[in-house]
Amino acid sequence: MSSFDVDLFVIGGGSGGVRAARIAASYGAKVMVAEEYRVGGTCVIRGCVPKKLMVYASRFADDFHDAEGFGWSVGETRFDWTTLIRNMDREIGRLEGIYRANLEKAGVEIVDSRAVIEDAHTVQVLKTGERIRARYILVAVGAHPTLEPVIPGGELGITSNEVFHLESLPKRILVVGGGYIAVEFAGVFAGLGSEVTLLHRGDKLLRGFDEDVRDALGEAYAQRGIKLALGTTLRSMEKTPGGIAATLSDGSVLTADQVLVATGRRPNTKGLGLENAGIAVDEVGAIPVDGYSQTLVPSIYAVGDVTNRANLTPIAIREGHAFADTVFGGKETIVDHDLIPTAVFSTPEIGVIGCGEAAARAIYGDIDVYKTAFRPMKATLSGGKDRVFMKLIVEKASDKVVGVHIMGHDAGEMIQLAGVAVTMGATKADFDRTVAVHPTAAEELVTMR
Ligand code: NDP
Repeated sequence: MSSFDVDLFVIGGGSGGVRAARIAASYGAKVMVAEEYRVGGTCVIRGCVPKKLMVYASRFADDFHDAEGFGWSVGETRFDWTTLIRNMDREIGRLEGIYRANLEKAGVEIVDSRAVIEDAHTVQVLKTGERIRARYILVAVGAHPTLEPVIPGGELGITSNEVFHLESLPKRILVVGGGYIAVEFAGVFAGLGSEVTLLHRGDKLLRGFDEDVRDALGEAYAQRGIKLALGTTLRSMEKTPGGIAATLSDGSVLTADQVLVATGRRPNTKGLGLENAGIAVDEVGAIPVDGYSQTLVPSIYAVGDVTNRANLTPIAIREGHAFADTVFGGKETIVDHDLIPTAVFSTPEIGVIGCGEAAARAIYGDIDVYKTAFRPMKATLSGGKDRVFMKLIVEKASDKVVGVHIMGHDAGEMIQLAGVAVTMGATKADFDRTVAVHPTAAEELVTMR
């Protein structure tokens, strides 16, 4: 008789936890998942999925405008925020149902409660007080957006958690931050017709991305009417009859209906009882793990944003899967965090795999850089102002393509396939001998010389 109630207790029903639970169960493990909010996690409930739906909504204004150059009379258009939110909520509910059903189909027991760790093998389910003894515990509790830095009136700001539940479309919105979330929502609200100011402490958006891409996005956003307040921070906020008055570091005051703070996310490790098992978190609250996602306590593993490695859904899923393969499937699996294709759903969109020019020079020394910027074919009749920017970075010695950077329509779709090539170790000669698909924007990737 086992002295454990379950083989695996997963805390957190998001992307990483759900994948780990299902795969572990498929290997015959008895698995329980505790989720205190909604099964599906940040990605499904208040992240990637609703965000992408909003991005789609925001791009129709361009489509209506573009259609006229092709002979269409679109007539008067009107956007209804309530309809979008209601339809989005319905879709999220449907997806949550699928996640639950899939767990149940796999034989996983779902516990709708917060759970805390009592020791290396014990978890307490807070709703019932029940204590579960588990051979392994997987912490997959994700992260939450912060309202940092702490400033007077800071509580007047909202985060990406609240942005999906606003009662109406803000006429004026101040977005604070220059990372993925700030950039994406600035694009969304501008497309939906809000007056957007994007305030960032740095001199360019998207730190860590290739400098040319950062420049191109800054120009594209300015052209789209997004006001960029760069090199600026927020000092304080105050509620006034005219809206939220935000005082900036240059002393100016900007009044907005909403202030969206997107200055980063922090792991959800507070109050989780990690210290009861002897696990210390790092300076941002993340759980340190090894390549197998194992903590210093052999029975406790952690995957996803709570470990602050690469905070992306597909990575959490891989980490969860690799954990289950390693612990329950007899296949030791390490997730490679090196070559990760990624997309920023700004408008225009950005897709990247590999390193930027400066990083490539530091890593590879001698490199060749190929760049192109052009007007997409559709814009010839539509009059649309967006441009496409592409850049390839090639290690000279091996001829390997070590970086692909795309800004433009469908860059996210393009980078997935460029990602296959780069992951396989494609050389510039491989790109060159690939026949162009004409007429497309993507063909430029194989015709740059
Ligand atoms: P990021 O870490 O990407 O960006 C945070 C931004 O806030 C940076 O511009 C940062 O500036 C700024 N910032 C941080 N602290 C302060 C401060 N104290 N005062 C002023 N500005 C500050 O976080 P996000 O919240 O945008 O996103 C979190 C993560 O979620 C991303 O890193 C990404 O991994 C993931 N994500 C992925 C998406 C996708 O794949 N499309 C979409 C959304 C999120 P600085 O650059 O100077 O540090």
